[in-house]
Amino acid sequence: MIKPKTQHEIEMMRKAGKIVGDTLKLMQKSVRIGITTKELDKIAFDFITSQGAYPSFLNYDGFPASICTSVNETVVHGIPSDYALKDGDIIGIDVGACYKGYHGDAARTFCVGNVSEKVKQLVKETRECFYQGIEGLKAGDRVGTISHRIEHHAKHFGYGIVRELVGHGVGKNLHEDPQIPNYGSDNSGEIIPPNSTLAIEPMINLGTRQIYLLGDDWTVITRDRLQSAHYENTVLVTENGVEILTLMDGETRYDEI
Ligand code: MG
Repeated sequence: MIKPKTQHEIEMMRKAGKIVGDTLKLMQKSVRIGITTKELDKIAFDFITSQGAYPSFLNYDGFPASICTSVNETVVHGIPSDYALKDGDIIGIDVGACYKGYHGDAARTFCVGNVSEKVKQLVKETRECFYQGIEGLKAGDRVGTISHRIEHHAKHFGYGIVRELVGHGVGKNLHEDPQIPNYGSDNSGEIIPPNSTLAIEPMINLGTRQIYLLGDDWTVITRDRLQSAHYENTVLVTENGVEILTLMDGETRYDEI
């Protein structure tokens, strides 16, 4: 069951979402050739805690860092390390912040130096999958509508759509009902009640949809080792439409990748 949020909860979610968006903006400014993913993690930790919030992922099921840093063939849940970003890499950064008991959750994939056009397009169309997913969405629609639209857009480009990992409700808990797959039938699944907060997160692969879990039990990579992109926002769904709670300052659907 999707549990709608109260007005007070929505206010807390907006604040948590703003902290997440601001952290992502800081990540965007910090990503460069030579920086290690551990350094990015430290910058994120320092900022989130300076805002009176706590990194949602730190110690979540034992996750050892504040952010997930997923480079190139890593789909999600990459653990920050001494790896230094290289020219031509892409990096998915997933940020969660808990403010007064409420979580915001969002991810972006950033390009490092000169990235091939093919991979840039993957990053761009993964973002577009998210926007297609929420276009015209209102309370009363069904979860499957989001899933179907994401799948439809990704399929058009022949990309692999990850099935094992899904979007989710978010609020007092980082992961709440419903599950929001990135594939499915239009108009299927649960009806979205007004004032629902959802984390919608297409994970799209350049090649096969098949994935593989590394021995650290966190890092998910593509089986063919081709690149994967991730784009996620926490959104509020009301009778009037969708409010995105985790945008970076000034960010739009059409920004250059
Ligand atoms: Mg999420």
